[in-house]
Amino acid sequence: MLSTGLAMNGFADRVVVAGGGPTGLVTALSLAKQGIPVLLLEAQKLPHDHRRATTFHPPTLEYLDALGVLDAVLDNGRITPVWQFRDRHAGCVAEFDLAALNDETPHPYRVQCEQYNLNHALYRSLRDSDGVELLMGARAVDATQDADGVTVTVVLADGGREDFGGRFLVAADGARSAVRRQLDVPFDGFTYEQKVVQYGTQFDISEAIPDVAGVAYISDPDEWCVLLHLDDYWRVTFSARSDEDDDAAMTDDVAEARMAAFLGTRGAKLALHRNVWRIHQRVADTMRVGRILLAGDAAHINSPIGGMGMNSGVHDAVNAADKLGKVWRREGEIDLLDRYSRQRRHVALADVREQTVRNTRFLNEKDRKVRAESQKKLREVAADPVKAHDYMMRSAMISGLREANALA
Ligand SMILES: Cc1cc2nc3c(=O)[nH]c(=O)nc-3n(C[C@H](O)[C@H](O)[C@H](O)COP(=O)(O)OP(=O)(O)OC[C@H]3O[C@@H](n4cnc5c(N)ncnc54)[C@H](O)[C@@H]3O)c2cc1C
Repeated sequence: MLSTGLAMNGFADRVVVAGGGPTGLVTALSLAKQGIPVLLLEAQKLPHDHRRATTFHPPTLEYLDALGVLDAVLDNGRITPVWQFRDRHAGCVAEFDLAALNDETPHPYRVQCEQYNLNHALYRSLRDSDGVELLMGARAVDATQDADGVTVTVVLADGGREDFGGRFLVAADGARSAVRRQLDVPFDGFTYEQKVVQYGTQFDISEAIPDVAGVAYISDPDEWCVLLHLDDYWRVTFSARSDEDDDAAMTDDVAEARMAAFLGTRGAKLALHRNVWRIHQRVADTMRVGRILLAGDAAHINSPIGGMGMNSGVHDAVNAADKLGKVWRREGEIDLLDRYSRQRRHVALADVREQTVRNTRFLNEKDRKVRAESQKKLREVAADPVKAHDYMMRSAMISGLREANALA
């Protein structure tokens, strides 16, 4: 077994980042841009090409612009100013046009783009940055700390173990975070009973639903659906049926029959990917333990309805890197890191959880009266320019971010 040569000696001043998803990569690049040495540890040998997040909200686009990686999202994505709540049978319930926010953000739209495009651009940028060490195939399994720094124990691709030192650790190692578990930080919340089934199709959905927007949340008590128009295909997400196992949902017959029943046409060939996901709502009790920060899915996970998980991971990353930079340069006391935890947990609990729970309930509400009432409320919001503006500021993650950043 060979040593990586990156272990303890001579690197005590760096920040170690565990996890090379969007949160860890943005953290690492934001630190590198401040001239802070970084060691990024990623468990996989190659970056993931998972089809997970697709929605990029305005504040995220602003952060990515500042980091010089926005073009990768714009070039591979679809700019989508208009999105809808719909009813599967009655059609459009409420439509929101983010162009109304053009005084609030230079990007008054969502961009629909596969998250791996961002990851690839961030890896490229990190490889070109001074002071950055990337270690792929390196799984963090243990983290200890003292008054001066952290030591992260890593299992390497060849099975060997090595210790890596740094002044701080950012654990961005995903929902099953080994670091969070090892620190024993509770991750309370719940898991939805109903899974989601995701298909990709190059069939043009607007042929079947002519007034559909590029993002449409379609409610139905029996089988709700989300439509997302990406650069060159539509992603279609259905609520899974309770009597269907995951493998069955992936078969050609089941997938095409489901699409045909939904669209009223058999034309939608599902040449592209299929996935089944379980969804959760959980937030860590704290996002700081001494010199270790939890960030992204390691700290909070939520229903994807509203497209907020990756976005809030990126917002965590920028916030964490800003505060770590101040502490690293000795411009601030280490307790500044508590503010990171307060601000970002506030967003996770009061904003992202609230909105994604409400959105998910809107989609699958079974009580006819409650459905009618929530649809009526949404129609009223969409019809009133002031209420619609406030609603879009929140659903575009602008209000929540501003409120949290103002917290002491
Ligand atoms: C179907 C679906 C749709 C979604 N849609 C959206 C959306 O539209 N918008 C949105 O904002 N969010 C969305 N999300 C959520 C989004 O995908 C996640 O919130 C996002 O990936 C979190 O990024 P992360 O970097 O925190 O974690 P991850 O992307 O999970 O990255 C963690 C990384 O850490 C690595 N790792 C794991 N353990 C270790 C370890 N011990 N040591 C070192 N490395 C480790 C992993 O290999 C991985 O590369 C969606 C999720 C799903 C499932």
